Amino acid sequence: MAAKRMTEVLQKEAVRTTINPYQMMLRQLDLARVHTSIPDGIWKILRSPERSLEVSIPIIRDDGEIEVFTGYRVQYSSARGPCKGGIRYHPGVTLDEVKALAGWMTWKCAVANVPYGGAKGGVVCDPTRLSEREVERLTRCYTARILPIIGPKQDIPAPDVNTNASIMNWVVDTASQLRGEAVPGIVTGKSIELGGALGRAEATGRGVMFITIGVLQRLGIDLSHATIAVQGFGNVGSVAARLLSKQGGKVVALSDISGGYYRSEGFDIDDVVHYVKGSPGHLLAGYSASGIEEITNEEVLTLDVDILIPAALEAQITSQNAAHVRANVIIEAANGPTTPEADVILAENEIVVVPDILANAGGVVCSYFEWVQNIQCLPWEEEETNQRLGKVMQRALREVLDLSKERNISLRLAAFVLGVERVAQAAMLRGVFL
Ligand code: NAD
Repeated sequence: MAAKRMTEVLQKEAVRTTINPYQMMLRQLDLARVHTSIPDGIWKILRSPERSLEVSIPIIRDDGEIEVFTGYRVQYSSARGPCKGGIRYHPGVTLDEVKALAGWMTWKCAVANVPYGGAKGGVVCDPTRLSEREVERLTRCYTARILPIIGPKQDIPAPDVNTNASIMNWVVDTASQLRGEAVPGIVTGKSIELGGALGRAEATGRGVMFITIGVLQRLGIDLSHATIAVQGFGNVGSVAARLLSKQGGKVVALSDISGGYYRSEGFDIDDVVHYVKGSPGHLLAGYSASGIEEITNEEVLTLDVDILIPAALEAQITSQNAAHVRANVIIEAANGPTTPEADVILAENEIVVVPDILANAGGVVCSYFEWVQNIQCLPWEEEETNQRLGKVMQRALREVLDLSKERNISLRLAAFVLGVERVAQAAMLRGVFL
């Protein structure tokens, strides 16, 4: 069974890697263009990342051998402020994936109206095959190599897939040692003891909860009668599942790289989180409770539920499976989970898609709060952070919903138009450097 599931994940990975996320992001951008009046020259600026850095990262493995990894940092736009975006550790990382993620960060920061541009970083590695000390050495070397272009006023990394607060702590330490001064504001998502914000670890999932509740209210769907499927049970998926089930939603399906799991009466998410914290590789595999059925990852995406929350990787809902999706609403907690071809099919089937650049903006909004606290050396209470996060997310949702209604366009198009117009406005005000 485990081998069958692994084969299925590898097959899915093969489909995902044939889809170029950067082309996908540019296609989404181009589709939004007809709904804007952005001049040609400015449009050319918006279609190209400002800076792409590729670095080699040699580390000494625990067995004494030297291994060299490849890493990237892409700064897509600094028109609205310092660049901002996470660091991903994954074997499937490519320069084009990082460019796409940096572009989505740019539009997302503008939709949320935080004063940032967009960036992203990635290292091609499989962290499950590295020891903790090797991950630390990799992180420190990657930090040293990208240090010339990052900083609290230049570009501020944060956690993403397979990276976490410990990794951010090593970035802070390496940067502070090399610069000869404390630079806690060089990353967000670090430990509270080093200047991290209370509430940051949960912020992306909490933002997903705010957006889900707000969208359901507009659609007249009662969350306490809604069933939910969540793909991906990492930082974002687990928190979104836990907070939504606390609000009365019934999470009936979960998945991660170990496979999919269904329970018609709904999962006790606190219990699942407790299990995953102590399980090998922090995976769902082996979790048991009465009435659980093992299903495939693909089935999680096509279950007859009210809400589907993809919270894993990009290009999960494609032209191959979109026609089989039966959820009424998709909340994109992951970045880029739906391809433009799938979007067309979902729209034909009247499925509401809440786009990533709105749905998962809670992480960067809270990162912005962390950065503000670091600059002011003034930590906030968690309650204050959560309240402010709610306000920003609700405002962004209202603006996207209103624009979508006013122009009779999809929520994705509305979010792109809102974000891209804001970036274009900043680019026009700044002018072109001679
Ligand atoms: P994570 O590493 O904590 O978790 C990723 C999860 O996805 C894991 O449970 C993993 O097993 C699962 N997964 C990977 N491939 C899968 C597959 N093919 N099928 C099913 N499950 C699979 O990462 P995260 O931080 O939770 O990020 C998840 C998504 O959310 C990414 O797209 C990321 O870019 C996006 N995002 C993250 C943040 C953040 O603050 N961490 C903010 C905004 C957006």
